[in-house]
Amino acid sequence: MNQIEVCLVGTGAVRVNLERGGPAFVVTAGDERILVDCGRNTVHNLTRAGYTVESINKVFVTHLHFDHVCDLAYFVLLSWNNGRKERIRFFGPQGLADFLDYALLKTYEQDIKSRLGHGKDPLGIEWSVTEIEADGEFHSGGDLVCSALFTEHGNMPNLNFRFDLGDKRVVITSDTSADPRLTPFCRDADLLVSECSGPKSFLDERPWGTWHMWPETVAALCREAGVKRVALKHLVVEDWTDDREISAKMAAAVRAAFDGEVILGPDGLKIQV
Ligand SMILES: [Zn+2]
Ligand SMILES: [Zn+2]
Repeated sequence: MNQIEVCLVGTGAVRVNLERGGPAFVVTAGDERILVDCGRNTVHNLTRAGYTVESINKVFVTHLHFDHVCDLAYFVLLSWNNGRKERIRFFGPQGLADFLDYALLKTYEQDIKSRLGHGKDPLGIEWSVTEIEADGEFHSGGDLVCSALFTEHGNMPNLNFRFDLGDKRVVITSDTSADPRLTPFCRDADLLVSECSGPKSFLDERPWGTWHMWPETVAALCREAGVKRVALKHLVVEDWTDDREISAKMAAAVRAAFDGEVILGPDGLKIQV
């Protein structure tokens, strides 16, 4: 059956936000279950959403800003501890292999040696890494085809991901500047999970503001690409204001310029596509 389920595991961003974890999404399609990014509190939020860490064997990383990878060590080590049976396959930007080497193998060298010493299966702490070097298809599993698009964000390798299963299409953006090449990449998507870091007036005042999208650019992308539904994520502005309605206002601004459904999910929301 051509069905994709997307779980908004974490829709927050960098700063501590008790309502929203850092970026993390689970895409389930056929036999494939893929974690996209592993930000703050991902392991807790995965558990709340009903996933065990050891059941996830593929991890896609958009980029190496810490808010997208800071829970990876806990994710990997806990899944090993819990009895992982399959090696993890990582896909992500250039530098990911070194990142995992340093952030896991070197940092936790004593821990790993200690656990191996009492008989833990080494397979659970082994992985493969594919560093994506060009736009286009980089992975397929069953009928699911996964493609990447590099866009500008923070002067670092930065990947947006697309999932095609039969006639179903889901796109999860990274943090990204608005880029006209996102339009063909998102063409006719049934669901776009898009970053929406803050209103333009907020981003205009931040030195990093040009690295991100705001409601009007999200709406324009949805319109031009013929996207059917959009879910907003990476809601940075929530952590800078006392206005508890700020994200609802951003969603309303997207709705004002886009006729499709606009989803402002709580963490843990599962969307069927
Ligand atoms: Zn970033
Ligand atoms: Zn980010």
